[in-house]
Amino acid sequence: MAASPLPRIAALAPYAPGLSIAEIEEKYGLSQVIKLASNENPLGASPLAQEAARRNADLIFRYPQGGNTRLAKALASLYGVGQERIVIGNGSDEIIDLLLRILARPGADNMVCSEPCFSIYPIQAEICGIEARRVPLKEDFAPDLPGLAARADACTRLVFLTTPDNPSGYCPRLADVLAFAEALAKKAPRALLVIDEAYMDFAPDEQAVSCLAGGQIPPNAAVLRTMSKSYGLAGMRVGYGVLPENIADAFWRARLPFSVNVLAEETALAALADAAFRQATLAAVAAGRKTLEAGLRAAGCEVWPSSANFIMFRLPEGGSASECFERLLQEGIIIRPLKSYNLPDHLRVSIGNEKENAVFLQALNRFLGQK
Ligand SMILES: *Cc1c(COP(=O)(O)O)cnc(C)c1O
Repeated sequence: MAASPLPRIAALAPYAPGLSIAEIEEKYGLSQVIKLASNENPLGASPLAQEAARRNADLIFRYPQGGNTRLAKALASLYGVGQERIVIGNGSDEIIDLLLRILARPGADNMVCSEPCFSIYPIQAEICGIEARRVPLKEDFAPDLPGLAARADACTRLVFLTTPDNPSGYCPRLADVLAFAEALAKKAPRALLVIDEAYMDFAPDEQAVSCLAGGQIPPNAAVLRTMSKSYGLAGMRVGYGVLPENIADAFWRARLPFSVNVLAEETALAALADAAFRQATLAAVAAGRKTLEAGLRAAGCEVWPSSANFIMFRLPEGGSASECFERLLQEGIIIRPLKSYNLPDHLRVSIGNEKENAVFLQALNRFLGQK
């Protein structure tokens, strides 16, 4: 008998990433492509981070320092938490994967998440052999907090909550998240509430809606953030989190020793120190969000209010989301169809820079006009 993968791996539906610029240039023979599909930073990467990458290029023959301690120290001081609670990973994707593996027993334990949700949660659970229990979002795309708690039981080891949510941009109130954490502690005392704040910096009132920024992390919760979005380092792969100390300790034991590489750590440190770029990013996203929201509404689309750097929308009556996606692709504009989230009528567009937003709205209006 030849070697063969586990059946659950052979049958896996892998993560569907946004299309890349190179793919579309080649497929349609285009020379200029605008990508508004993966919620990347509309201003690119901080000039200081780029400079750090160049400055450290001669160090790439070295192994990274174990434990990313300089970065952990910088993050601990940024958020005013103990360094022993900080974890860092190859994107927050790595942290999500490791938390599942550290906390849950394959074939015995379960995790609970929303339907739809960021697909890495259920995909990594499947890979690990952990049951994913799905709880539908409410009509307005709010998480069903009582429903999530109801599905948790004595074998629940993780519950995932994304705030602001992807793909809807919905942001629950902090008081509701805190009350949910408390209810969960009673219903499923062994469960860790994983609060994924990947887009939290873009929330208009971050201090009021974030556990991390507001300094109110429940004892049974972990908060995850990423440098892929607001810090413009998606290609470098750096995510981080604040965990209960015993789980952070287990994380560092289990993490591959060098998963965050030399350039990732150096650019992350430089990006954290670039307050001007960060301010410019937040301002560009806030302004672009207004422009896109108004433009989409003016075009007759249904728009969901977003606290993130993307907007979910639906075309006016009769418009086909997949046709719209294809037509924009032909014009060199990549947005995100939400079929892989089981939302075949919905589209998601990342907030771009001023020119990208304008080009997208023009192309969308052309498509709608021609139908
Ligand atoms: C983009 C995103 C992440 C971050 O992914 P990285 O691995 O850090 O690039 C995490 N959670 C959600 C919901 C996201 O959309």
